[in-house]
Amino acid sequence: MSANSSGILRLALPVNLRRLFDYLPPHNIHTGSLTPGVRVRVPFRNREIVGILISLETESEVPDNKLRPASEILDSNPIFSEALIKLVNWSADYYHHSIGDTFSQALPALLRQGYDLSREVHEFWQPALNLDTQAETALSRARAPRQQEAWNLIKQHQDGISSEALRSMGFDRTLLKNLANRGLIEAIEKAPEFQLFYQHEPLLKSSPLVLNNEQERALESITCEMHQFSATLLHGVTGSGKTEVYLQAIAHALANKQQALVLVPEIGLTPQTMARFRERFNVPIAVLHSGLTDRERLNGWLAARRGEAGIVIATRSGIFTPLLHPGIIIIDEEHDLSYKQQDSVRYSSRDLALYRGRLENIPVVLGSATPSLETLHNSQTHKFRYLQLQQRAGNARPPALELIDIRNQQLQGGIAPESLAAIQNTLKQGQQVLVFLNRRGYAPTLTCDNCGWLIDCLNCDAHLTLHRSPLHLHCHHCDYRQSIPNQCPNCHSPELSPVGQGTERTEEILEQIFAKKGKVDVMRIDRDSMRKKHSFQEMVEKIHKGNPAILVGTQMLAKGHHFPAVTLVVIVNADTGFFSADFRGAEKTGQLILQVAGRAGRADQPGKVLIQTGNPENPQLQTLIHQGYDAFSRDIIHQRSTIGLPPFSHIALISSEAPNSQPVEEFLNNSAHIARDIIEANNLGGPEGVIIIGPMPAPMEKRQGRIRWQLHLQARNRKPLHNLLYRLLPSMEQDPLTRKIRWSIDVDPQDMS
Ligand code: ADP
Ligand code: ZN
Ligand code: ZN
Repeated sequence: MSANSSGILRLALPVNLRRLFDYLPPHNIHTGSLTPGVRVRVPFRNREIVGILISLETESEVPDNKLRPASEILDSNPIFSEALIKLVNWSADYYHHSIGDTFSQALPALLRQGYDLSREVHEFWQPALNLDTQAETALSRARAPRQQEAWNLIKQHQDGISSEALRSMGFDRTLLKNLANRGLIEAIEKAPEFQLFYQHEPLLKSSPLVLNNEQERALESITCEMHQFSATLLHGVTGSGKTEVYLQAIAHALANKQQALVLVPEIGLTPQTMARFRERFNVPIAVLHSGLTDRERLNGWLAARRGEAGIVIATRSGIFTPLLHPGIIIIDEEHDLSYKQQDSVRYSSRDLALYRGRLENIPVVLGSATPSLETLHNSQTHKFRYLQLQQRAGNARPPALELIDIRNQQLQGGIAPESLAAIQNTLKQGQQVLVFLNRRGYAPTLTCDNCGWLIDCLNCDAHLTLHRSPLHLHCHHCDYRQSIPNQCPNCHSPELSPVGQGTERTEEILEQIFAKKGKVDVMRIDRDSMRKKHSFQEMVEKIHKGNPAILVGTQMLAKGHHFPAVTLVVIVNADTGFFSADFRGAEKTGQLILQVAGRAGRADQPGKVLIQTGNPENPQLQTLIHQGYDAFSRDIIHQRSTIGLPPFSHIALISSEAPNSQPVEEFLNNSAHIARDIIEANNLGGPEGVIIIGPMPAPMEKRQGRIRWQLHLQARNRKPLHNLLYRLLPSMEQDPLTRKIRWSIDVDPQDMS
């Protein structure tokens, strides 16, 4: 125990331990000048790390001779607003993660590393001082419309316009460099000096569409009270006009001088949505995603925090973006699994958005064509407002869904004769076809024709996938690669053949059937074919030309895209997900089928969706096809309620892994034992209380050379579950076995594999 007259700093440090740390203030700094929320650099073990000041104390449990002084106070003003401090605290508490690590993850990397914000200067672009008039003429002849647009803009800003503002209008560095090379503009550095988003006149660049009645009602309901928390589910099929409602709700916020935070699953896949935002709004838009450099991320973060950006569009971690005047939060495709972080602090940014909305007193809108069952349940129990958009906006009609029985059929590239005929027909009418297959590579594995041996990964309980371009075997779980063996290691037969379909194989066969006959492009869109930076964009442009084509692709094709010439969708195999061990398998498969189906017939052409199945009697599939998502999800919700699965119970998943199973099992056995004692001592059991399931091996027991086990803690109410975790986790941290294993806790797990 020690006391210090100049005060004690209580800090959150980016380490695994679930607690705060005490330090003395740096020499010659008086704590009177400090506010919680500033960054502090401190010595920790043999290194220096950056923490966050949580509170100022007068006493510490740490003995005097152990208290060390902090090295440096990094900020003069708090880097986190009060609301964000609460949000981060809540995240650490709810997901039972180290508070310091959670704070650290909520910051852009540069700030996490201690970057000095006070030195911040900004890059501006202005007309070149020795402007050569011929350069301007040259540009106008050069047929470079984007460069011309940028030049017209910069010309009007004799004092310069910041790189950030330019980027938010879609003018990137390369383009600016090109203009500079032409001698038209030059870069200068200035101290921060910026325009607030609402000083841009007018706020809108183009006028909003006239809403239909359903959209009108939705907009009215979302915007009727902008200074108060509300949670709304906007449920509308793909193409029903949800994005238009978001755009108009955002316009409403901007007019109130409030900013909008829009979360999307993956920015790279939705350039069209980005383009729509840029066409509609005149205010700067900050776009934050993992493809940015640290510097770009920091710039976007600063633009949001200073109120330069009126709109922030971001992926998962964007939920922690500071906003000067928060006004509305929108979560598009709220059912998407990418909102849940799968390592470190395993937060759901959708759920954090709801909490943040409460803290900031603003509306939160969740949008989806296929809402998650948790969100539907929250709407049914009136925690969320429920708004439905039932018609497709404009003229588009919903696609017709049809099952194709693939039993006893001669399949080619996994495709049934009936589907091939439909493809032929569609191409003949000059339209496009989308073939969906959630398997990249050539074939899911390789087998020996003689003895039936299948090739497995050395490190994982999984088969190796055969890839053709380039030819190799690849494990999609651990990235292990090897060449194709010459013979079967089991019986030495040289006859090895691919089993099943991957996108490469389906592409190859469709090419053989269709591309040779005429001018039909077969394009494959998956992670392998899209590795190059601009390939996705190029492919999309090609598709948009609208010539007859077949697109073969994975999930990447299911998200967000408008392909107006696609009128036929073939789903190669609808079955696997329905039989998965995960209780969410059916829900996720139903969502995926409808998301893919939603790509068909977006414009004036009606769409058709053929769903191939080896199990056409599957009642869930039948309900989905004939009665739609509402009935499908209602059935699953009913089933979950009878067996007490989420959303009718809450799960915390404790996982442990190590190269051999002994410490993994022993650690979870210890944990289960402690958990039982805590449950008993604190009366946390009983029908409303916590039940312990396991320890047991994970569905994929071996992955990346490590043996994985799990312990499920499940309870009807959250409270006893969290009360158990508060007591259990600190004891688990003390177990000496933690030196031999890795372990983690996942509250509300989405992926239990
Ligand atoms: P969603 O986000 O639900 O997929 P969008 O907002 O993208 O739907 O709308 C689908 C298409 O319909 C877009 O091309 C959009 O411009 C158009 N659209 C949306 N609302 C209207 C409207 N009220 N009137 C005319 N066209 C609309
Ligand atoms: Zn063999
Ligand atoms: Zn592997």
